[in-house]
Order: sequence, then structure tokens, then C-alpha cells
Amino acid sequence: MSLDSSVYLACVFVFGPSFTLSVLLLSSIVIFLIERQTVWWKHLNNFAVYTIMIASASFVYTALGGRRGPLVPDHLGAYASGMAVYFALNALLVGFYYYIVFQENLFETLKGMLRDTVLAYVSTLVLSLVLTILLYYNHILGLALFLCLGTLLSYSFKQMFAMYRRLEERANRDQRTGLFNHSYFEVVLEDEMRRSRSTGEALSLAMIDIDDFKRYNDHFGHLKGDGLIVFLAELLQQSCSDAGIIVSRYGGEEFTLLMPGHDSARAHHFIDTLRRKLNNSPFEGTEIFPQGCLSFSAGVAVYRPDVHDKSELVEHADQALYYAKKQGKNMVHVFGNQSPLERDIDFSQDVRDIEQQLSLLMYKDLETYKHSKRVFRYAMDISELLDMDALSKRQFTLGALIHDIGKLEIPWGILNKKEKLAPEEWDMVKWHVTWGKQMALTNGKYKDLTPYIELHHERYDGKGYPHGFKGEEIPRLCRMLTIIDSFDAMTTERPYQPTKSVEEAIVELRACSGTQFDPELTEFFITYIQKRHQLPDETAV
Ligand code: GH3
Ligand code: MG
Ligand code: MG
Repeated sequence: MSLDSSVYLACVFVFGPSFTLSVLLLSSIVIFLIERQTVWWKHLNNFAVYTIMIASASFVYTALGGRRGPLVPDHLGAYASGMAVYFALNALLVGFYYYIVFQENLFETLKGMLRDTVLAYVSTLVLSLVLTILLYYNHILGLALFLCLGTLLSYSFKQMFAMYRRLEERANRDQRTGLFNHSYFEVVLEDEMRRSRSTGEALSLAMIDIDDFKRYNDHFGHLKGDGLIVFLAELLQQSCSDAGIIVSRYGGEEFTLLMPGHDSARAHHFIDTLRRKLNNSPFEGTEIFPQGCLSFSAGVAVYRPDVHDKSELVEHADQALYYAKKQGKNMVHVFGNQSPLERDIDFSQDVRDIEQQLSLLMYKDLETYKHSKRVFRYAMDISELLDMDALSKRQFTLGALIHDIGKLEIPWGILNKKEKLAPEEWDMVKWHVTWGKQMALTNGKYKDLTPYIELHHERYDGKGYPHGFKGEEIPRLCRMLTIIDSFDAMTTERPYQPTKSVEEAIVELRACSGTQFDPELTEFFITYIQKRHQLPDETAV
């Protein structure tokens, strides 16, 4: 583009528009004969675009005092303006073409073109001025020199681009299997989550792990083990490419399938079909597997808009995979579909485990310890009233119990300070949500509780911390926890707040409903508290 445009511009500056348009016509005919595979209307479109650009640039150049002939330093403004018009029209017409043919956003296309090509535009002006000198003084020889240099440069640029593409491709691929690698997976996952959020299209993530792979390695050695990994990678790639599914090697013998357009049922069906296909695939040494065949376990997580972080979705898929393994392997499990019985068994042990960790707060901040236990009991009541499924109940109540765990990191003197906290001390207190999240992330079992720890100080109006999430951006049960947490803080003694009666706390909840708290959930909680304290219904008046 820089090359032929600088030839046209130089022709305008030296010979004027008629000659330049003749050159354009000649070159268009030659290109048409060489590039026969391009449809005719594209050639015609190109010709029309160039004609408009050349005619307009020439008009502006002459109008601003530019004259045909040698390079005149006094006419620099006319040269620059001619070129500016040439490229403004180029950006507009090409942008318009993309808008009509590919339905792309006109403004975004124009912005992208200007950003990416402004340097090329400037270099074109410089080149066209150099060519103006060469053409005027050395005629055909000047043009030949220029084209020779230009062609060589353009060829070496092409080579560099090809090398860059090869490197880029290699950086995104896993060397052994040829699938996308972990870091590329993270990038696509973020893109797909963003796309699903804006278009509303379903998105599922599956995590696949070969069953008893270590056994195969131990029996036949790592080299044969690698062969098995490559075999599964090929099977996955073959089965997924037509379905628009992106397969990556997540690590070791684990793979991820990013499945746009797949809800949980469709994703489950697809992967279960794959699983059976693998079971029926003959492979050397399968007799050593407990199942007697190749198999994998898979966990599926479905994206929902209240999943904020890509690691949360990966974590859900990972937990579902863990569950599938626990059920005896060679199966696909969808996150959130655990049987209530199974969850309840884990539940009481989890409560004991968290209480064990919280007990450190007993010496450091007894109030927070007692507060956590009270909030847990409120959460148990609310989970019954809201008729939650077993998984939500587990997450909500355990989340309530563990929500202040990050306070373990706050110095004793600040936690127990009787006077008002200084601003920098407040800042430190606020960090407890982030510290708590990091503490919970160190234990795989509590990863799904992190939203309760991290988001219980977010506000409905978006003025909370740490992220300033607003309304429905905050998961519903986290919004509920904020209400319980605040109500308990109002009604119990705290070093930096006067205590409120239940009635006063209800008035306060209502006052902050719609700003700090979700209005619907506030009323729900108030009804519950009124019943619990046997208060008449209209405490607020
Ligand atoms: P499970 O059914 O619970 O998944 O059991 P497993 O034996 O498959 O899983 P485990 O995580 O215990 O072992 C995975 C093994 O995979 C351990 C590691 O040596 C092996 N491994 C990881 N990456 C590679 C690789 O690239 N090539 C080979 N040959 N082995 C690998
Ligand atoms: Mg593994
Ligand atoms: Mg495995």
C-alpha cells in the first residue's frame, strides 16, 4: 500500500491527475490479469477507491498552491495536505467497505486503521517526496531504482511477518500434542467469557483428566505414556474441531475443552460421547487399567454472568472433575449436580474444619469469632427459608462462617482498638477481604467459598469494596450475606460502634435498602428477623 500510493502521489506532484489516473488504469489492468482468482467486482472496487483518492488529493494539492514539477520546499503544506486527504479518504472508504461487507463496527474499524497505519501513512509521504525528486530528475531510471528498493524492502518485510506468525503460532501451541497450551487457553477463556457475557450465548468449560495415567507410565515408561497423551489429544482435536470447540493441553495429562454454544446438557452429552469413544478405542496395554480400557474423567462448568473471574470457572470445572474421580472415574460430572446426600456428608466435617481455623480468632479477636458463628446460624436459617439446593446451602453457610477469616492478618492492636480507627488503619481493615480470599485459595476445598469472603463488603449501589461491583454483579447470596453481616454488626457490641436494638437495626436496614443493601433481600431478611424476635410487622413506622 505504501509503495503504490507513493508512486501515485509522486505522479500527482510531478505530472498531475490525468497522467496519474492513466498509470492507475494501466496498473489495475495488469493486476486484474495477474490476480485472476479475485472476483471482478473487487478489482473494480479497488479501482474506484484509488480514483477517488487520487482525484481528491490532486484537487487539494492544486488548491493549496501546489504545482506540477520538481519538489518545491515552499509547497510542503500542499504536499502534506494532499496526502492527508488521500489517506483520510482511504480510511473512510475501506472502513465503509468492511462495514458493508463484514458488518463490522465502522467507528472501531476506523480507529483501528488509523492507529495501525499512521506510521505507514507518514512514511508514504516521505517516499512520495523522494520519488518526486527521482522522477523529475532521473525519469524512468529514478522510478526503476525506487521500485527496486521498494520491492526488496517489501519482500523482506513479508519474510519477517511470516517469521513472526510462525513464532506466535509456536508460542501458543503445546510442542508434544500440537494443541493450544495453557497460557493461550487462559487468553481464549477470557475472550469467550467476555463474548458470552455480551451476547448471552451459552458457554461451557470441561476439564478432562486421564484415569490412572500414572499406572500406565509406571508399567510402560514415560515414552509410551507420551504416546497415550498424543493419542487422546488427536482424538479430542478430531472430534472437537467441527463443533467449534477449543481444545487445549492444560498440563500433564489434563486437557480443557472450551465449548461456546454449549449449555450443561449439551456439553455433558458431547463429552460423554467422547468418553465412550475413548473407551472403545483400541490401544496398546489397556489391560493394565482397572477399567480394562482407556478412560478419562471430566468436570463441566457452565459460565454464568455472576462468575467474575476466569479462575472461578476453571475452579468449578476442577471441582466437578474431582467429584467425578471420587465417584469411581470414567465419568462426566457437571458442577452443581452433586446429590444432596453426598454434599451433606461432607458438610459437617467442613464446618468443623473451618471452626478449627477460626479458633485462632478466639485469642486475637473474640468478637469476630463470635460474630462469625452467629452469622453462620443466621445463614443456616435463611438457607432453609430460601429452600436452597444442597450445594448452595453448603456454600452459603460455610461462606458465612468463614467470611471474616482474613481478619487473622490484621494486627491485634487495630482489631481491639477502642477508639475510632485512623484512615490508614481503616484501609488495613478493608484488606481483610482480599487476604481472606488468598487464605481460602490455599485450600482446594474452600475455593468455592471465596466470593463470600471477597464480596461481603460490596454494596448494592456499587460504592463498596474491594471491586465496587453493583447490583446483580454481586452474586445474590453474597448480597444476602452483606445484610446478615451488617445486621449482626449493628446489634452486637463492637469497639467502634454504638449498639442498636433489633427494632433500630431494622429501621437502619430499611434506610440503607437500595443503596447499601439489595431491597428485595432486605425485606426478606426483615420478615425473618421479625418472626424470630416475635416483633409486630411494621417496626419501621
Ligand atoms: P487419576 O485417575 O486420579 O487421575 O490418577 P492418575 O494416575 O492419572 O493421576 P496422577 O495425578 O496421580 O498422575 C498423573 C501422572 O501423569 C503423574 C506424572 O508423572 C504423569 N505425567 C504428567 N505429564 C506427563 C507427560 O507429559 N508425559 C508422561 N509420560 N507422563 C506425564
Ligand atoms: Mg492429573
Ligand atoms: Mg489422571
